[in-house]
Amino acid sequence: MRKVTYLVAALCLGLLLGATATTQAQAKTAFATIGTGGITGVYYPTGGAIARMVNDKRDVYGIRATVESTGGSVFNVNAVVSGDLEFGVVQSDRQYQAVKGLAEWEGKPQEKLRAVFSLHPETVTLVAAEDSGVKDIADLKGKTVNIGNPGSGQLQNSIDALTAAGLNYETDIKAEQVKAAEAPGLLQDGRIDAFFYTVGHPNGAMKEATAGARKVRFASITGPGLDTLIKEKPYYAKAFVPMSNYESAVNTEDVATFGVKATFVTSSDVPDEVVYAVTKEVFDNLEEFKKLHPAFAVLTKESMLEGLSAPLHPGAEKYFKEVGLLK
Ligand code: GLU
Repeated sequence: MRKVTYLVAALCLGLLLGATATTQAQAKTAFATIGTGGITGVYYPTGGAIARMVNDKRDVYGIRATVESTGGSVFNVNAVVSGDLEFGVVQSDRQYQAVKGLAEWEGKPQEKLRAVFSLHPETVTLVAAEDSGVKDIADLKGKTVNIGNPGSGQLQNSIDALTAAGLNYETDIKAEQVKAAEAPGLLQDGRIDAFFYTVGHPNGAMKEATAGARKVRFASITGPGLDTLIKEKPYYAKAFVPMSNYESAVNTEDVATFGVKATFVTSSDVPDEVVYAVTKEVFDNLEEFKKLHPAFAVLTKESMLEGLSAPLHPGAEKYFKEVGLLK
């Protein structure tokens, strides 16, 4: 009987302590929303992976991270800078343009934008129906092509690539501007001939595009104009679309194109301890993080400090100095 009383008393005490701890944690909870992209891209699972690392330590940091599907890089930069989102996944070229006041931010450098770290490589990927005869970007003349939704990273990449290939996107092709998540369906339904998507591999959109009845080919993005573009723009580099991921595609060999990197950004208004915690959890547990998506296989701690143009957020900087990744 006495034992039972002790047990009950211990249980009550436990509940009481637990309740107090919960109240304290709730009082301190910081909410961190991560802007990503369409759910068939790689940003969405990337945001999910980062949120998972941080939420696993909720009792330590009191941070509750959530993920939002968005229109992509340009949307994310604007939402982070305006304070609607705490974090965003953003193409390295878009980070550069936002900081320098170029492209969508012409004459308006985004002074609050801060870099946290970089992530997986992304290739400017051109997917075409085999029956359209498109094997290289130059073959797009006269075709109906999705170049990307406003707010996406890929919209400017498609325009740059088309221009470099000598095609005017307003007059030489019939350009659509729908979200990448809708493009595979439109391609399979015969409503477009091809689409561009700047994205890591493998991804759901390209699995979907190549899995249908209409045969699909990854088209190359090459030529002298493209060589000049890559030479002129500091944020573009030659790259290949790896075909090992897409067995149903017509191609058997990797496809030449150019690419950028996905990066993780925040705003100078986000507290140091929040950015520190996010950085620490991803870096301290990088091997576990890398298992959350095959596109992360190539990541190393050192490479994740490359491709950033915005000033580093002080919370990230503190962590990198602590572990000797920065002097
Ligand atoms: N790079 C694309 C963009 O910035 C998103 C790719 C993805 O969601 O994986 O809009």
